[in-house]
Amino acid sequence: AKPLSLEKILFSQGFGTRRYCSDLVYAELVKINGVLAEDPDERIPPENLQLEVDGETWEFHEKAYVAFHKPVGYECSHKTSHHPSIYGLLPQPLVERGIQCVGRLDHDTTGLILMSDDGQFIHRMTTPKKNIGKVYQITAAEDLTEEQLQHLLKGVVLDDDPKPCFAKACVQRSSRVLEMTIVEGRYHQVKRMMAAVGNHVAQLHRLSIGEYTLPQDLPEGEWRWLYPNDLKQLS
Ligand code: URA
Repeated sequence: AKPLSLEKILFSQGFGTRRYCSDLVYAELVKINGVLAEDPDERIPPENLQLEVDGETWEFHEKAYVAFHKPVGYECSHKTSHHPSIYGLLPQPLVERGIQCVGRLDHDTTGLILMSDDGQFIHRMTTPKKNIGKVYQITAAEDLTEEQLQHLLKGVVLDDDPKPCFAKACVQRSSRVLEMTIVEGRYHQVKRMMAAVGNHVAQLHRLSIGEYTLPQDLPEGEWRWLYPNDLKQLS
């Protein structure tokens, strides 16, 4: 990529207005690869750039692709109604540059959420044509039966659409735990599918999207960058 001014680089990463970003440099609060920056107009190739802004390190990413482990009790919207927003758990620059959720999880659902500021990526990931599998770990309120699993696989009709929705795969892990793969993302889809077969969701956790699985070492409430190898698992 072609060199950009330091001010533009900081602005693109969500550190504030152009003016604020140049003031950060003048205030000696910015380091580039460990070296104190002096000139906001200095032109720098942005590849492999390690920034430090006001004591916090920051990797330059032209577009932000992020995996987030959603905890229980948060809503996936900016303007929430009953619970705090997941955006409050992310660093300010990511929010400032406008990252958005790829689909939403309910306030009481935990697990993998992808976030990005790349509108085309979000569109690709959410268009129903794409049929990306999402795996949910369901803890059911009652013991699961073979009939219920068969019914989920055969398809159930929900009350707002005559077109049935299917589980693409069902893997029972224990008497009440089921891993179910779905490809659509209808409103409260998993909970409604479970209710439609005569059971109920007690706990819901999203394990994976496409071939990308929530990393074991990513604690609840934490996020991480997705790199080209991770993104390949989503294409
Ligand atoms: N299905 C649901 O019912 N809730 C979620 O959060 C995700 C899928």
